Amino acid sequence: MSARAEDAFRADIVEVGRRMYARGYVASNDGNISIRLDDNTILTTPKSVSKGFMTTDMMVVVDLDGKKIRGTRDASSELLMHLEVYKNRPDVRAVVHAHPPTATGFAVAGIPLDRAVLAEVVTTLGSIPIAEYGTPSTPELPAAVRKYIKAHDGLLLANHGALTIGPDVFAAYYKMETIEHFAKISLVARQLGREHLLSREEVVRLQDLRGNYGIKSPAPICADPSTRPGPLATENDASTSSASFRAESRDDQANCQIVQAPSSHGARLIPSDPAGLDGEIRLSYRELTALIEDAVKALLGGQHG
Ligand SMILES: [Zn+2]
Repeated sequence: MSARAEDAFRADIVEVGRRMYARGYVASNDGNISIRLDDNTILTTPKSVSKGFMTTDMMVVVDLDGKKIRGTRDASSELLMHLEVYKNRPDVRAVVHAHPPTATGFAVAGIPLDRAVLAEVVTTLGSIPIAEYGTPSTPELPAAVRKYIKAHDGLLLANHGALTIGPDVFAAYYKMETIEHFAKISLVARQLGREHLLSREEVVRLQDLRGNYGIKSPAPICADPSTRPGPLATENDASTSSASFRAESRDDQANCQIVQAPSSHGARLIPSDPAGLDGEIRLSYRELTALIEDAVKALLGGQHG
């Protein structure tokens, strides 16, 4: 790799760090970003520096075992997690790790973002599971990440944060934005007492579009269990307790199983109940967005009035 090309990647990391900090995805010196320079060389952020105030000369170059090759600073102690991704996903060129508050709230509550609610999430990320808790900077965290990273481009890390990957650093960063945006919308929908899922048919259609976006890794996601009455189908359950969220989450898991679909890019999650296969779209993305906008307007109106 030419020095000029590496300089451009250093500048990209500085820019992504600024955006992460500006959006409040990290506090203090949290978070880390890396780019694969070649098969065995990784450019990454230094430890003990705010991601909002980095300069290109601060970056560290390491090999796939984490050994420093160039740089005056040391790499983040969470580098092991990045290296685990590069070893398991030869297609991946960049990794972003942050602690976006709403998505991290789901990771703390133990609620995966695995429901087919928004079309753009189904097509870009699929489901976003929670990797089991591992003490930061120990081999526990890379081991937890290893279990999920072959099938997912975005993960929540239990009681910690989120991890996204991509063919370049901006693609990985945008997935972090998508996860946090999805978490915010899911939280509002759950507070409103309803979270209507896209039908299985629509999820299959959207997953077939994934090829058009250049995404090949499978990411199973829960479609509408449909005609069965359940916590998501009821309209009178406006409970917002965390216990209720957990119960719904468990129900969803029970309603889903991973299957290999013909002509698909990989595994899919569909309702295990055959009666649930002919579901209809209960609420389009536009309708959901309008509902959220109305709720936010009502809340703001209440505050100012
Ligand atoms: Zn972290």
